[in-house]
Amino acid sequence: MQELMFLGLFVLALGIGWLLGRREAIKVGFMVQPHGSALDRQYFIGLNYLLNEQPDEAIETFIRALEVNPETVETHIAIGKLFCQRGDVERAIKVHQNLLARPNLTRIQADNVQLELARDYLAVGMHNRSERLLDELVESGSPLRAEALVDLVKVHEREHDWLNATAVGEKLVRDRPQFAITLAHYYCEIALEPLRKQELSQARKHLNDALRVDSGCVRAMLMLAELEDGLRRYKDAATWLERLAARDPDMVPHALPLARRSAHNGALDIAAYLDSTIDSGSPLIETVLARADFLRGENSVGDVSRFVLQHIQRQPSLRGLLYLIDLHLDHVDAKGRDNLLILRGVVEALVLEKHPYRCTSCGFMAKHLHWQCPTCHGWSTIRPLKGREAV
Ligand SMILES: [Zn+2]
Repeated sequence: MQELMFLGLFVLALGIGWLLGRREAIKVGFMVQPHGSALDRQYFIGLNYLLNEQPDEAIETFIRALEVNPETVETHIAIGKLFCQRGDVERAIKVHQNLLARPNLTRIQADNVQLELARDYLAVGMHNRSERLLDELVESGSPLRAEALVDLVKVHEREHDWLNATAVGEKLVRDRPQFAITLAHYYCEIALEPLRKQELSQARKHLNDALRVDSGCVRAMLMLAELEDGLRRYKDAATWLERLAARDPDMVPHALPLARRSAHNGALDIAAYLDSTIDSGSPLIETVLARADFLRGENSVGDVSRFVLQHIQRQPSLRGLLYLIDLHLDHVDAKGRDNLLILRGVVEALVLEKHPYRCTSCGFMAKHLHWQCPTCHGWSTIRPLKGREAV
């Protein structure tokens, strides 16, 4: 079905291109046989292939038949793009290379073709070639400079060449401020290596760069809290954790181990920290259960139970239910305990089946947090599920 739709679009594009080309060719005298020409014969051969369900041969014939002149260039670019989107990148490269070799292209047309060719190379993983073409576009001050930078940054990202990615990203962010979110992640990626090697001042510099370009980068805040925690500067770690909670309360569950250590070392009032996160909106169940753990030390099972129930009645949660079952296991008779254990097994199986995260951009479901979506490659697009969809 998709194949048929593609062919339909393709033939339509070719038809328009042919008509435009024919009109232009007659106008500028390119075509000496306006009717009944070899071009027309090629079209009939192409149609014949199409009717005989030989789409590859049909497409090749149509491409040969389509005269390249200034008015059909856009059609050729579109044809190449269709090939690339369909996954037939080899053919897309052929179309775009053929176009680029034409001497009669205007500057903007040549730049457009070069950009599409670079995208083809990127799609098949020929990063060096793609990078060379994109660099040329950027250096030449092309009107397509911003588009070229977007693709150039992708090349470096695919190669995990974070230094070059940040260098290009810094140029791009001037034109596209929304790119700051991605750029901040590149700095966080750079910081991972010095963090591993315990080169902490270097790591701190990169993380500060992340926050310079995106002051709301919670990943950098979390990494800085980890860094300070490693140096036993618990007050500084706690400051980062407070900032993280204020910026994005849904990230607090990821900060809990550090928050507990800061609290243990007298640098953070964790009960107040969790309370303010819970009060700030619709909290994640992990935050509620972390608060319930603290309540358990000083309150009766009934009080803790009521606290959890109050939240899961607003936002149903299997993990909340599991917590309640565990809470009551040691406070019922033998028969009741057996029944609770059966119920626990069922709920646990349901929890294991669920994915608590989803990409807001492409819908990819994940078992744990990814900073970059493995499917659409978006940064900070994977978020915890809330409400009835939550686990
Ligand atoms: Zn995605």
